[in-house]
Amino acid sequence: MNTSPIQWLSLGVCLALAACGDSSDCKSISGCQELLAKRASAEEAALTRASGSPRDMAIIGDGVGGIAAATNLPPTVRVYGDTSFWLRLNDLPAVWQTTLSGSYADAGLPVPGNPVVGQRIPRDSVILANLRGLVRSGAAYLARGRVIVTPGASGDWTITDTKGRSESIAGPIIVSTGVSRPVTITEMVKKPFKQAADSARLELLKAGRLRTGDLCVENAPVANIVGILGAGGSAADCVVAVIAKGATQVVVWGNVDANLPYSDAFNDLVTKYSTKICLINGLANTLSLQPGANQGSATIVVNGFASPQCENPASRHLAAGKVDQLVESLGRLVSEPPLVVTTAAAKSRIKYTPVLEPNTCALIAVSVTFLKPDSTPLEDRPPMYLIGAAATWIPDSAVIGPVDRMLFSGGLNITTAMVNRINVTNSKLGQTFENPPQGFGVAAYMGSHFARHWSAKMPMAKCQQP
Ligand SMILES: Cc1cc2nc3c(=O)[nH]c(=O)nc-3n(C[C@H](O)[C@H](O)[C@H](O)COP(=O)(O)OP(=O)(O)OC[C@H]3O[C@@H](n4cnc5c(N)ncnc54)[C@H](O)[C@@H]3O)c2cc1C
Repeated sequence: MNTSPIQWLSLGVCLALAACGDSSDCKSISGCQELLAKRASAEEAALTRASGSPRDMAIIGDGVGGIAAATNLPPTVRVYGDTSFWLRLNDLPAVWQTTLSGSYADAGLPVPGNPVVGQRIPRDSVILANLRGLVRSGAAYLARGRVIVTPGASGDWTITDTKGRSESIAGPIIVSTGVSRPVTITEMVKKPFKQAADSARLELLKAGRLRTGDLCVENAPVANIVGILGAGGSAADCVVAVIAKGATQVVVWGNVDANLPYSDAFNDLVTKYSTKICLINGLANTLSLQPGANQGSATIVVNGFASPQCENPASRHLAAGKVDQLVESLGRLVSEPPLVVTTAAAKSRIKYTPVLEPNTCALIAVSVTFLKPDSTPLEDRPPMYLIGAAATWIPDSAVIGPVDRMLFSGGLNITTAMVNRINVTNSKLGQTFENPPQGFGVAAYMGSHFARHWSAKMPMAKCQQP
């Protein structure tokens, strides 16, 4: 491996400080964070002194997708990062999967481990594997928080941080900024019930009685009865978190995600907590409040009922209790592109094209290009690619033809199926269903396969499906 001038400079800073130790690996989360902070400061120093020739490639986002890409690209690649939300998820002790070994090994990353077969992987071991992967990649890491991308003056990209510091990137930008923000109940409710839902939502927020599913696992509400709008994997994580904090009943509104019943983690949860869960089948369509005796004690009414009958077999004899705390776990916003794509567009139209692996037809990235008003492509910008969770939805405003849309959906299904196959936990099934499209395994697959594809200079031609 060639050592870049920047790596030599980092080494020089380390030698001068005589305190860097082994900067190519780490054994604890804090140890890795310390090494990355040192690397980021050395990169800052080098950037300030550099004479100005732009870097030829950058990754925005230091989650598993970005790390997997960096691991499979030369260490000269710039990685822009922000602190991961995963470090804040205090009430989520374990992730959804019972193994991610296949995915992480395939991506060239250290394997997050749990030697006990069938148990969920501790959150901290996934965080550690990601941080170790980033350290080992040797990438030119900068920790500058949320950066934005805009078209540069000379056919390049400009990356700017919140303090206004910027850098030019001559070549492609890989965007791996993760999932978008959670959807709110107001966004789900249709007219004429929207306004009532919005004012109920605001009142609950003011009273400290409403939070998102992300916040539920960051700091789970302490309450007797918790209501959760949504019945996917994130709602399941929230169920475990609130029961651990003492909830006696969790009322869940939603349709259980069709893949969840195939997951060991889901089955464990249902077996363990079924009598505390009150499932109301079907989506939440309305939200309103009935005034209470004093401020902040209003009764929460979903779909017109304050105490509906539970529908899951273990609780069918019960009615839902009065909900003290409500959680929105309704999925992610898919109407808008990641913020860096919006700023890079600079008001031009955004075109999405799926990048499929030629031999498997699996989706490994989405190519983003920009269009003039007459729909011809703008030639003044280097390529931009989305990977990981950022590449799993097509925003409403994106231009994409019907064939590409089909190749995108089919390709994402293939990637997800392949990831589930390489992480087999159930030898009888020969496949596991623990990995969703917006998950660690798929992000690792896209990042590493796209980077290898790119490094091998393979044509980015679309996969020709039979
Ligand atoms: C509460 C919660 C629980 C989850 N549980 C699971 C689970 O159990 N199993 C599973 O497989 N998946 C789970 N997921 C999904 C999983 O976290 C993502 O699918 C996965 O992390 C995607 O990887 P990524 O690299 O695409 O994005 P991320 O891991 O989200 O990484 C994106 C990184 O980019 C940084 N970033 C974002 N914007 C910018 C910017 N403008 N500039 C610089 N940096 C930026 C972020 O801070 C972050 O560090 C969960 C998600 C949430 C929210």
